[in-house]
Amino acid sequence: MSDTSIYINGRRYYLPLNPKIVICYDGMDPSYLADAVIRGISPRLSVMAEHGFYASAHSAMPSFTNPNNVSIVCGAPPSVHGVSGNYWYDRDTGQEVMMTDAGPLRAPTILAGLAGAGVKVAAVTAKDKLRKALAVGLAGEGLTGIAFSAEKAAGATQAEHGISGDEAQAGHPVPDQYSPELSLFVLDAGLRLLRSGRAEVLYLSLSDFVQHAHAPGAPESDAFIRAVDARVGALLDAGATVGIVADHGMTDLSLADGRPNILYLGDRLDARFGAGATRVICPITDPFVRHHGALGGFVRVHILGDLDRDAVRAFLGRLPGVELALLREEMCRRFDQPMEREGDIAVIAGKGVALGTHDGAHALGDLAGARLRSHGSLAERDVPFLVSEPLDAAYQRKAATQQLHNYDIFDFVLNGTRREGIAP
Ligand code: ZN
Ligand code: ZN
Repeated sequence: MSDTSIYINGRRYYLPLNPKIVICYDGMDPSYLADAVIRGISPRLSVMAEHGFYASAHSAMPSFTNPNNVSIVCGAPPSVHGVSGNYWYDRDTGQEVMMTDAGPLRAPTILAGLAGAGVKVAAVTAKDKLRKALAVGLAGEGLTGIAFSAEKAAGATQAEHGISGDEAQAGHPVPDQYSPELSLFVLDAGLRLLRSGRAEVLYLSLSDFVQHAHAPGAPESDAFIRAVDARVGALLDAGATVGIVADHGMTDLSLADGRPNILYLGDRLDARFGAGATRVICPITDPFVRHHGALGGFVRVHILGDLDRDAVRAFLGRLPGVELALLREEMCRRFDQPMEREGDIAVIAGKGVALGTHDGAHALGDLAGARLRSHGSLAERDVPFLVSEPLDAAYQRKAATQQLHNYDIFDFVLNGTRREGIAP
């Protein structure tokens, strides 16, 4: 580490010369952005794309929220930080584990690194479970940063979150966790922290509640896009460099008649290999499931009985609706996954198909008749990548010659748009 830069997970990051903000626009499929730009309902993002930098990037796989948020703040894929799902089967203990705390995170974050170098850093998330992972090394006892969620803003404390509940809430009601306002609260809180000088680097992570429920062009998604756009504008007007990525896209996984298009792999495997010989884990599983019924385009299959992996893989790979069935080693190599949290076989759905465990095991009633829209597969891997300022020549070259990932965004925002001052 020098006075002007830090190294985190093998990458160098320059300390900021002006405020830098990264927004994870949860579930912002490129189709929303294209539609919003074409119809002119997201003027500030349009200007960012035109005068700053825009590209289509890849998310980390699986295209779920937690692995991607953690990848973004680590600047590295799941193989480095260990978070490859919201939920997994612990092979050593035989327990199914929910990522509700920092336990699985095994790499330092850029946020913690910057805070340790004396930069004023804040992370604000929509949901609290994510906040705990992002707060590691940033906020808490003996630490200087701020990390809180919109969901639990009222309960924030100086000791744990680096900010009091009163200041986190600033007189605003805490929105329902199933509402568009939860995300808007995050952006408003970020603007207050920026304007008050409490933070100069911010990570603001939204919720995909609206995108799960509404397609591009629906009045509800238009209203949300406009509301987010206005807040991005306010952050830009306050002098920040803003980078925006999504954690994953979003696809309609329903049939023409509105029923969800679900391939129940647990049922198929039981019928072919016998009940209890395999276990299907849906790593999208989340206490916050009302909008997707724990259904997405990626599952992990664990073999419990005495079965041949290749035979199970071959069976899965031949099922219509499955795009890829990969043995653990192959999945880890191709998609940068941590080996110890991978299943025996990883299954990636074809576009428009949801993968489930057993018919009746998913809370489909929670969809309340709405079409199932979700993510997890390669069909939701493309995400927008926006920076509010033009890139310098080296980063233009980098963008043109490498596959960009959403977890490159801090690199681009901190290093690719440095304002006059210290030369890299
Ligand atoms: Zn998400
Ligand atoms: Zn989601």
